Amino acid sequence: MSAPRTAYVHIPFCHRRCFYCDFAVVPLGDKAGGGGGPGSASIDSYLEQLHAEIALSPKGPPLATVYIGGGTPSLLTPEQIHALLNRLCRQFGVQAGAEITLEMDPASFDQHDLQALIAAGINRVSLGGQSFDDGVLETLGRRHRSDALMQCCRWLAQACHEGELRSWSLDLIRNLPNQTLEGWCEQLEQALAVAAPHLSIYDLQVEPGTVFAWRQQRGELPLPDDDLAADLMASTSQRLRRAGFCRYEISNYARPGHASRHNRVYWSGAGWWGFGLGATSAPWGERLARPRTREAYGLWLTDQHQAVHPSLHRQSAAALPLDDRLLVGLRRHEGVHLLDQARACGWDERSCNRYLPALERRWTKALQQRLLLQEGGRWRLSDPEGMALSNQVLVELMCWWESLPADVVRSPSP
Ligand code: SF4
Repeated sequence: MSAPRTAYVHIPFCHRRCFYCDFAVVPLGDKAGGGGGPGSASIDSYLEQLHAEIALSPKGPPLATVYIGGGTPSLLTPEQIHALLNRLCRQFGVQAGAEITLEMDPASFDQHDLQALIAAGINRVSLGGQSFDDGVLETLGRRHRSDALMQCCRWLAQACHEGELRSWSLDLIRNLPNQTLEGWCEQLEQALAVAAPHLSIYDLQVEPGTVFAWRQQRGELPLPDDDLAADLMASTSQRLRRAGFCRYEISNYARPGHASRHNRVYWSGAGWWGFGLGATSAPWGERLARPRTREAYGLWLTDQHQAVHPSLHRQSAAALPLDDRLLVGLRRHEGVHLLDQARACGWDERSCNRYLPALERRWTKALQQRLLLQEGGRWRLSDPEGMALSNQVLVELMCWWESLPADVVRSPSP
């Protein structure tokens, strides 16, 4: 496995917790900000920890992609973002032309901030818009409203048009309470009208412990049924394909040249660094999830000063096993080449010949139903049917994996 050239940095702070969100988040209140406002002491002390964690990391080759996510990273000042990028640069270096993405919340920046962030080194923005409907935004517990979102989209489109930003992406949430097909199609038209060159579209997941889970228990969360959910997904694929987008991953659509290089690393099975509370890293394949609270992350970091976790060192990490490679690879438009992936995991010819045909047999039904498509040794989900029902394919994959002998599934060294 080649050395990672990708880094994810987690900024956990948000103004408030949205009603559907179970991410590793520290709510600081609606007036919070990184430049001396309420909550800034908490942000400063976290950034100290984050800088320390990056400085403790084993060195590696220069980064080709950096993604600063959260949380709401746009609560940080441009100077704080610049300092973080400098820290990464000192530790690893950053390649010329690297993709450097910042997640931004429409309620947390203006055009002046955007310009300062671009000057700090950001060249791609992922905007957490979620919906153009004020009623929906209120239901979701979001702080911004549609007019602010439209304004942010105009600033981003202008920055992209003038070559200051390389690209930008808009997040939307689908499968929401009371959602209709007509209502969703209007949302898509709005997204096309603001000229976002990349769209990330996530179906609502009701996570335990959220306000939405509580509403669901009380019978107050009327979600679309399976038929409507399938129609929503199919209409999304059809409309965006007509508009010139490629669905390059289950939840991601891009115009030519605008696919996220960073996200493609995750789905390709390559390694990445991860830093910060709640962040997951997998530089050599083996995953390491950091604690999700400030206190536990602080304790974990103290331990790292004694000895950095073995998964961060090439010689002591386990490699990404074949089942994980296939699970993430199948999310992509191009799917997976079974034999190539098995060989990349260190499988010998005998194991490939003996065990891969059993997986192909398990996938025969999905192939006949055209949920899966096979081209040579490559298997991929069809769009939209296979991507909508990907669980059926993935369950067969997991059953196959569990049926294999222990010495076959054991991870080789990277
Ligand atoms: S802004 Fe994003 S990360 Fe923060 S609480 Fe809302 S959904 Fe979660």
